[in-house]
Amino acid sequence: MSQLQWNKFIGQERIKNVLSSAFVNNTLGHAYLLCGDAGTGKFAAAFELAMALLCKSQDQKPCGSCDSCTRMLKYGHPDFHVVLPVAPEAEHKKKDGTLNDEGWKFISESVIRRIQNPYHIRTYSSIPSIPIDWIKEVNQSILRGALEGERSIAIIDGIDMLNDDSANAMLKTLEEPPAGTLILLLTNKIHALLPTILSRCQILRFAWLSPEEISAELVKMYGGSPDDKRIKDLSYCGSLGRALHLHENPGADVIDDAIKFWTLCERGMWNDVFELCDQLVKLDDYGLYEKFFRETMELVRNAFFAKLEGTENYIRGKSSSEIHFHTYDGLEKVEDLMEICEKALSRIAHRANISLVFANFAISLMEIVNVEKQQPC
Ligand SMILES: [Zn+2]
Repeated sequence: MSQLQWNKFIGQERIKNVLSSAFVNNTLGHAYLLCGDAGTGKFAAAFELAMALLCKSQDQKPCGSCDSCTRMLKYGHPDFHVVLPVAPEAEHKKKDGTLNDEGWKFISESVIRRIQNPYHIRTYSSIPSIPIDWIKEVNQSILRGALEGERSIAIIDGIDMLNDDSANAMLKTLEEPPAGTLILLLTNKIHALLPTILSRCQILRFAWLSPEEISAELVKMYGGSPDDKRIKDLSYCGSLGRALHLHENPGADVIDDAIKFWTLCERGMWNDVFELCDQLVKLDDYGLYEKFFRETMELVRNAFFAKLEGTENYIRGKSSSEIHFHTYDGLEKVEDLMEICEKALSRIAHRANISLVFANFAISLMEIVNVEKQQPC
């Protein structure tokens, strides 16, 4: 049997060893669950394993250039299937909500982009989901078995996002897959999965990447040296996907800071709130501070819509789980929350002392959300 050669999949030596040795000895199981943080290489690993299994080269696999590899790279191999969360627009759907031709084209393009940039952290125009007709089609293709060779392979990315019907259909397939089937389930929320799914898979846990692994990739992609301050800073985030995202969107981490700040205030964790304030003050960038409070306003706005049934489409950017505010029990608070954000923004516009702006904001926020009534989380 040929060796398995990893090309885009970086780090994760333990997982590489498990999969390579099962590949060489022909002892791969029929279902694996790849779990770990976004951007740690789950899709890269799944795709390269799938490509190697269908590759026709006699030497190292995947070769990347045989007929099979070429078709896989264009998502055009009949025995290779992918499902991933997407956010189709209205023009991609028929009246009954199923996908139209444009929708299927959109899906295929989304898969190709994922194949080309497996580490890229995806952003969506609305809340992503897995279209039911897509998962149905892939499920049927798996049950039908391989068309060309002996192997049929499916990657289901975001398995935690399946609805109950789709999850049950997938469970049946996992119970009795046709011979030669390999199903690779990917998730960054293993706790959200049904135990019945977990028990039918071999679980591969993806670790955080080392700073050396991340900085080597950043240098390879953007040039520079591992000693550059920006590259050094990003190399500690554990996820290559996140490092790439932050590299391409400087200041994107402000959104995460805003979420963290809110959560800490909500839980009344004073020490942590002020520690985070100190970190933010050190940034010494009023542009970023303005962004911070604009993001916070956006979070309040999103939380408002999240509370109103049927308004999911109005939620922008972050997925709903990230904008769930534990203490957000009354819509009448929206106005108060918006007001304190506006106050902070106006103070920033006047270049007020930023430590005081943050401290004022934290205290007002805690008052509004009524911290002392909260249960500790
Ligand atoms: Zn090949």
